[in-house]
Amino acid sequence: MSEPPAPTTERDVFVAVVLLHPRCNMTCSFCVTPDDAFEALDEAQAHALVDELAARGLRTVVFGGGEPFAWRGDLLRLAGAARARGLVVQVGTNGIALPAGFAADDAIDRWVLPLESADAAVHDRLRRHGPGHHALILRRLEALRAAGREVTLSTVLCSETLAGVAPLAEALRGYQARGGRVHAWHLYRFLPWGRGGAPNAARLAVSADAYADACARVEALGLPFRTFRRADMYRSKNVEFVWRADGVVQRGIEPPRGASAELA
Ligand code: SF4
Repeated sequence: MSEPPAPTTERDVFVAVVLLHPRCNMTCSFCVTPDDAFEALDEAQAHALVDELAARGLRTVVFGGGEPFAWRGDLLRLAGAARARGLVVQVGTNGIALPAGFAADDAIDRWVLPLESADAAVHDRLRRHGPGHHALILRRLEALRAAGREVTLSTVLCSETLAGVAPLAEALRGYQARGGRVHAWHLYRFLPWGRGGAPNAARLAVSADAYADACARVEALGLPFRTFRRADMYRSKNVEFVWRADGVVQRGIEPPRGASAELA
């Protein structure tokens, strides 16, 4: 079956978010991705896609999912191929299955990591992965700081994280002051969809006003890095989403509903 042509668009698309597969090695209370949201790209498709993105002149590729380091293909080899084609390579990961020495790996320009709260108990209640996912993320951040590598942070603003957004902002300011390189901080609004969001909607939902208030409080802090409101992770004017369905690569200005699409 032949691949569909790349979409022609008047938008200034320069970022491709590649959804490698929908599965994950952890269970988050707000996960918007069902297991069958889309299909896993195979390795040959993924490499052909990287070639095509570079040929079209896109500047950045973000590998996501699901969890990209739980993809059945060789993610570092794919990232290296993308970088060799001149693309800026980012990976949105939960940080669990990173290879040893990940911070020094030249195949990836920037890491996108989740951090829900400065309070470990709040984070770990929402991002469930055995004991200590919060501590794991802090270790990942320290490794990136020591290696001088950039990181984008993402936080889902839900009923349990709204109150702690200012302390988290100050924790990130402190990280930057100690030499950490925060490229940006993305504030996502909880969405009542998917394997986590749907069953936990009653507990975690926040109103549009509460979300906007929390973002405004963050913006008033004058942080030394950019923050982005992501009330709807499904729309971003410079992004093309890529995934696989019915065996072939699909593209769109929005991902398939239910796909997690943390941007960098
Ligand atoms: S939110 Fe991300 S890390 Fe958490 S279960 Fe979903 S895909 Fe995995």
